[in-house]
Amino acid sequence: MDNFIKTIMQQDLDSGKHNEIITRFPPEPNAYLHIGHARAIITNFELAKEFNGKTNLRFDDTNPVKEDAEYVEAIKEDLKWLGYTPANVFYGSDYFEKTYEKAILLIKKGLAYVCDLSQEEMSKYRGTLTEPGKNSPYRDRSVEENLDLFERMRNGEFPDGAKTLRAKIDMASPNINLRDPALYRIIHINHHRQGTKWCIFPMYDFAHPLQDAFEGITHSLCSLEYDNHRVLYDWVVENCECEKVPHQYEFGRLNITNTIMSKRYLRMLVESGKVSGYDDQRMPTLVGLRRRGYTAEAIKNFIISTGLSRVNSTVSSEMLDEALRDDLKLKADRRMAIMHPLKVTITNYPEDKIEYLEVSNNVENENATTRKISFSNTLYIDSEDFLEEKPNKKWKRLSKDIEVRLFGAYFIKCNEVIKDNDGNVIELKCTYDPATKSGSGFDERKPNGTIHYVDAKTCKCAKFLFFEPLLLDEASDKSFLENLNPNSIQELNGYVEESLGEAKPSDKFQFLRVGYFCCDKLSTSDNLIFNRITPLKSSM
Ligand code: ATP
Ligand code: MG
Repeated sequence: MDNFIKTIMQQDLDSGKHNEIITRFPPEPNAYLHIGHARAIITNFELAKEFNGKTNLRFDDTNPVKEDAEYVEAIKEDLKWLGYTPANVFYGSDYFEKTYEKAILLIKKGLAYVCDLSQEEMSKYRGTLTEPGKNSPYRDRSVEENLDLFERMRNGEFPDGAKTLRAKIDMASPNINLRDPALYRIIHINHHRQGTKWCIFPMYDFAHPLQDAFEGITHSLCSLEYDNHRVLYDWVVENCECEKVPHQYEFGRLNITNTIMSKRYLRMLVESGKVSGYDDQRMPTLVGLRRRGYTAEAIKNFIISTGLSRVNSTVSSEMLDEALRDDLKLKADRRMAIMHPLKVTITNYPEDKIEYLEVSNNVENENATTRKISFSNTLYIDSEDFLEEKPNKKWKRLSKDIEVRLFGAYFIKCNEVIKDNDGNVIELKCTYDPATKSGSGFDERKPNGTIHYVDAKTCKCAKFLFFEPLLLDEASDKSFLENLNPNSIQELNGYVEESLGEAKPSDKFQFLRVGYFCCDKLSTSDNLIFNRITPLKSSM
């Protein structure tokens, strides 16, 4: 991983500014992580790893209103899945006492005051991008009065919103974040970790730099929208007289085509029942991607391949699929599955015989193991591999009077096409040539291509799920829920070869000539379900 932050870290080590790199991933436990977060996770962990440093996981649980312990567990699980073990797991709220002491220090230094303006009044006083703000009438309270009021805020004497603690910086600053930002607010609530111990909660801009400083974070990495908060970050660290001085560096956010990455919209999808949950196979959450079958390796390689710079970037979702194919190409066993079954009867094969043929589990991997597949007089092929009209030369599959190879088995030739009353093809009568058994070295005739099949006498029923993006058109001005793709999930019922009867949730396969599939979490041996992760070839 090479990027501008790595260069800075290297310089800081070379100059002796730091002798160790310490980073942190600081999610707010108010949602499931999505693939955008993976950029932050991978960047923090991989950069620290490059320099034998450390990365903490810190739950930024200082905003109690939206947070929940359910998300804490999910986030830990996601990190583990991505293959990262944090040096420490910390909770921002565990620093509340130390944070409070720093607030007292600011008050004593005349750098913070208790303000009685309501939220509305405060935003009026704040001014705009073009107009300076106005000083709060409470700005000149004495240190003693501020200390007294702040303590009484902590003791719960005032209702929600009645007072705030604000930094005293500059109401005319061109950077609005420096116009006496709020440091603490009053919320009487049961915090998921601290219970009712606190009714005043520090704001992100105050808590975050302090947490970084308490932990000795050297490089505090965050996404670009915090760019104009950096001055405030530095103000807090400096004026709170922190022993260790962290620095904030911003990187561009990752956006992916056709992919919704806003917490608000992801929540809306779940709450409206448009998806089955945060782990729905169409969701860009790490739980969703994992269930669908994306591997941690593929996600990591994808994220690293998108690079890192100081601009937000949008990359094609096709790049993630390509990373998945690269990862599974040698790892995933090949299997045969039929999604549009067409019955084939081999008229010259003994009716009560089943034979087992040995085939490679992955013809692209010379170290692959083998398995046995069965062959009998009743098979299924994919109806898309048969053409009724006389085909042209490009057709490399089955047709009447044409001979193809069945993968791992024999050459078969179609002699008769059986139709139902409506004219639909329902069965093919074929003959096989015993001399053409796979691996026999037979090379007298060249078949018209190789197709896959399953043996109807041993195969298992299976359901196949196919996915498309949840959003129809990113540029549409329709409301979010009206712009959803009605075909984002589609289902086919067919057959898989016998060995897949034992497939377990999260097992991944390449279904020959079709794509990469993953056994779904709801799959059982009596009710097999396979998610198509991605087709074999890019659709671009
Ligand atoms: P919100 O602003 O609603 O809290 P968030 O996506 O910033 O949402 P956090 O839990 O604060 O959620 O995110 C943790 C870290 O992940 C932050 O440092 C954030 O900048 C980073 N992050 C989130 N989404 C992306 C993205 N799409 N690309 C890069 N980094 C991201
Ligand atoms: Mg955030």
